Amino acid sequence: MAAMAFMHYLPNGKVCTIPVMKPAPLDILPATSVAHALSLLGEHGDQARLIAGGQSLMPILAMRLAAPAILIDINGIADLRGIRLEADGSVLIGALTRHRDLERSPLLAERLPLIAAAMPWIAHVQIRNRGTLGGSLSHADPAAELPALCIALCATIELHSPRGVRQIAADDFFQGVFATARADDELLTAVRVPATTPAQRWAFIELARRHGDFALCGIALTADCSPTGAVTQARIVVFGVSDCPRRLPHLESAIVGSAPSPASIDQAMQSLDTVEARSDHHASSEYRLELLATLARRALRQAFGFDERTAP
Ligand SMILES: Cc1cc2nc3c(=O)[nH]c(=O)nc-3n(C[C@H](O)[C@H](O)[C@H](O)COP(=O)(O)OP(=O)(O)OC[C@H]3O[C@@H](n4cnc5c(N)ncnc54)[C@H](O)[C@@H]3O)c2cc1C
Repeated sequence: MAAMAFMHYLPNGKVCTIPVMKPAPLDILPATSVAHALSLLGEHGDQARLIAGGQSLMPILAMRLAAPAILIDINGIADLRGIRLEADGSVLIGALTRHRDLERSPLLAERLPLIAAAMPWIAHVQIRNRGTLGGSLSHADPAAELPALCIALCATIELHSPRGVRQIAADDFFQGVFATARADDELLTAVRVPATTPAQRWAFIELARRHGDFALCGIALTADCSPTGAVTQARIVVFGVSDCPRRLPHLESAIVGSAPSPASIDQAMQSLDTVEARSDHHASSEYRLELLATLARRALRQAFGFDERTAP
């Protein structure tokens, strides 16, 4: 019988065929605390990988794109789980919080409706039941939603290592295809999202070939407004188009300073940034750029109430 195979799409757009296999033999070490996970990471170095929901790592292991001798399972670390409102109004989300818990959290629905609205766009419910916030941010797929949401919401990412704790702005965390500022011996422990003001406008929109697939292009947007409705600052983030989520600073500047109207949004679209778009078997760079222009305009119209929001 012919062996089954995965088509694997490389970051440069080329395709290679990989036979379906099982992971290479490995040991799983359950970590019981953050300190324990760090000590296991230090002890086993590049022989080990952390595993959270396994929704990105397990396919990688099954295709033997990585073959660590040890998996450090962080699922038993209760301190890494949960969503908490802080005294300053910000929201602290543990790295091990599952996508489905983000989707169904009443606190997020009230305080960070952008996250609640975006979660149903991620994969399928079975994957959201296991996938975690920390896993998605650490994996840093260019088309993943959570990295873009963290940038749009001005979030800070918390990392623990034997050297202590450091906080890094989401703006600085994502550095390329599957590349982040996280060092190999660091554990991503939490994300802190500043309080959303009632005057903050937001929108989320993406397009994928089929529901549940990674986005060909998506936009996550926040805009703070003055009491008169004028935009005081904006964050417009595109994902799925280039190597990692990118802000669109020219478009952001173009909508700051006045209360948007359909005409001023059309005008602002003339300032749409030039983005280096990738081509792959899913879509050409030209198509992704067309989508970017269409979705950015729609996101702005939705954020300011000129169009209905798009549901997945
Ligand atoms: C069919 C399918 C469709 C999908 N579609 C989408 C989609 O549309 N959008 C989307 O965003 N995602 C999608 N995903 C990915 C899914 O959301 C993953 O769950 C998520 O990206 C990774 O989270 P995880 O907890 O499963 O991480 P894991 O797979 O356990 O780990 C991923 C990587 O992160 C590292 N890691 C995990 N946790 C930590 C931590 N706390 N600190 C440091 N490193 C850590 C691991 O070592 C590993 O390198 C899809 C997955 C599948 C299988």
